[in-house]
Amino acid sequence: MMITAMISRRSSSALRIFGLARSHPIRSPPRAFSTTQVVSADLGTAEFGEQHIAKGIGRLTKHVFEEGKGTFITTDKGVQLLDLTAGIGVVNLGHCHPKVSAAAAAQCSRITHAQVNIGFSAAQIALLKELIPILPHASLDTVFFWNSGAEAVEAAVKLARAATKKPNIIVMQGSYHGRTNATASMTRSKTIYGEGHGPLMGGVFATAFPYYSQFGGAKHDTSTEELVNQSLSQLRLTLQQQTSPSDTAAIIVEPVLGEGGYVPAPPAFLHGLRKICDDHDILLIADEVQSGMGRTGHLWYVEHSGVRPDILIFAKGIANGFPLSGIASRKGLMDLQKPGSMGGTYAGNAVACAAATATIQAFREENILANVAARSKQLFSFLHELKESGTKAGDLIEDVRGSGLMVGVQFANKKLSRESDNVAAARYAKPQHQIAPQVVQECIKRNMLLLSTSVFDVLRFIPPLTINQQEMTQACGIFKDALEAVAKEL
Ligand code: PMP
Repeated sequence: MMITAMISRRSSSALRIFGLARSHPIRSPPRAFSTTQVVSADLGTAEFGEQHIAKGIGRLTKHVFEEGKGTFITTDKGVQLLDLTAGIGVVNLGHCHPKVSAAAAAQCSRITHAQVNIGFSAAQIALLKELIPILPHASLDTVFFWNSGAEAVEAAVKLARAATKKPNIIVMQGSYHGRTNATASMTRSKTIYGEGHGPLMGGVFATAFPYYSQFGGAKHDTSTEELVNQSLSQLRLTLQQQTSPSDTAAIIVEPVLGEGGYVPAPPAFLHGLRKICDDHDILLIADEVQSGMGRTGHLWYVEHSGVRPDILIFAKGIANGFPLSGIASRKGLMDLQKPGSMGGTYAGNAVACAAATATIQAFREENILANVAARSKQLFSFLHELKESGTKAGDLIEDVRGSGLMVGVQFANKKLSRESDNVAAARYAKPQHQIAPQVVQECIKRNMLLLSTSVFDVLRFIPPLTINQQEMTQACGIFKDALEAVAKEL
């Protein structure tokens, strides 16, 4: 009697967990491997995607990417696109770098899924031997691998909370850390990532980043020193007014603010953050998901300042297109987490690890950083020349900034007031007042992919780091034509 009651209680709770309706008879025979619906054969590829892929994905173009090689993508219609996005800073060695693809293919025949909660993955250990020596500080000797950038940010937050036993995280105004629940709450570049999806993770406080557009009173030519002083005093106030040091586990910063406007953090700001962290037992987390792996001409941008992060977050370029991310920290900190508290089915996938090992080796063998320096010089001199050219197009450029091949161009439409050309345009969602989205569309018409960024009027150049001189010349020419076409209409 009792046994029967236990069984029926168990099966009804199982039904609830799996969401099966009561009318679904549990005794029905298993379905053969057969279809439940017919998909339309009439739709074109892009239309099929529009019909069946989540609408929440915003998309710049309707191109269907079939092949990628170096700086170019070929579509299903045979159109060749010059890719100045590198898949949002991922394929730093260009699409399908032969050494990376070969390493991944070889790993596919060895073992694809070497599960990390069950044993060690040889591919991961091999990667660690390449990765640890190139991390930005000798104290970063212990790594946790994950899949996406957002997951790695979450791992950093978990580590910071576990290690300090404190709950709160300070982020930068304008930051981007991802779209998962925790990282959407940490993202302050645009409201769209969290809007309507609350409640998001609590315990997150935002403070100022030294970027002139973030300060109402500041102008394009406000000195770096002034912006840094303002930002650090805002942070001190945040620690007095919003989250006390005894409740603050970490401050997280993108050493180059990415989705917030492509603004490198001045070294003095990073040093200021380090000092405040040291004074208050707060951890400093550097999110180098976008700015890492040679993107800025430095392997990691934080190195440029000499500031030591307690936790480094990496992703994107690390495996040149294969999903791999992670955090690096010192062993003393990482060891504070209990075994079992970290991990995940796909954490540090073996194929992605093999691709990452090959990526690091190719960086060294092909002297990629030298190419970044040369192409960066080429791009900056073109942009500065255009800005100073006295032409209608050049006059639209307000600021050219960045490092290596992480370069931002900010526009100012002088016909509009500063308020409407920048902040208000974003606030009232009137991108037609902004120049950057129009230039992007003109570039697309000319078969070049380029991205805008932030709520401000900013374009970003983020090409593969392997782009050659002739491709960069071609890209600059297309950009100039596109900007001139926009300028003509203003
Ligand atoms: N941090 C930064 C600085 C990023 O730029 C991004 C992605 N743009 C992320 C985190 C999130 O990475 P992912 O999209 O792989 O989750």
